[in-house]
Amino acid sequence: MNLILMGPPGAGKGTQATRLVSERGMVQLSTGDMLRQAARSGSKLGRRAAAIMETGAFVPDEVVIGLIAERLSGDRGGGFVFDGFPRTLAQADALEKLLTDAGAELAAVIELVVDPDELVERITGRISCGKCGAVYHLKTNPPARPDACDICGADDFRRRDDDSEEALRTRLMEYFRNTAPLTGYYYRAGLLRRVNCAGGPDEVAAQLHHELEAVVSA
Ligand code: AMP
Repeated sequence: MNLILMGPPGAGKGTQATRLVSERGMVQLSTGDMLRQAARSGSKLGRRAAAIMETGAFVPDEVVIGLIAERLSGDRGGGFVFDGFPRTLAQADALEKLLTDAGAELAAVIELVVDPDELVERITGRISCGKCGAVYHLKTNPPARPDACDICGADDFRRRDDDSEEALRTRLMEYFRNTAPLTGYYYRAGLLRRVNCAGGPDEVAAQLHHELEAVVSA
């Protein structure tokens, strides 16, 4: 089962995708994670992407489409969960073609729906472990000890460069202008399902599970 998790920055796409990996053996394809990894590697593409990401703008379509294309020929596990991709109509068209070429198809597109006013608080409280990348929220999902990652024990909590207020404004604007219209595209394709994210991660995961069961039994 291949899925897209759609939603604005701070909706919890990464958190839910990680759960789908551990609970259903799915393969998470997060273009944001791939780009941050490229940035850390210091490659030319990574440096170019980092400069764009810091402002909150989108990286060019052909770059992210290329990253996804490379991964589609790899391990499929219990299906792909696309996290943060596609973000534009051109990316959605490219994904459809790539999946068809790979003999695969989308089972559903899940839109994580959040009140925009809540997003700023969600994002500004977000920290991650600089060593293993585990993501926490200072209010809703703090590490058990303030000076140690629950997963790897490192004391190296960081904020993302693009979680600044200015970059966040740009990211939200990009989402509502370019990505939100894709819900219409997937609605027309009969693939769109919505999950309300007002509750905590467990509640959202339970609703997501319910939607996925409906997809499986449809
Ligand atoms: P994310 O981790 O999904 O919030 O992505 C972080 C940043 O990476 C975004 O603000 C964009 O600058 C860039 N990015 C990630 N995925 C895409 C995409 N599909 N298209 C364009 N830019 C992307």
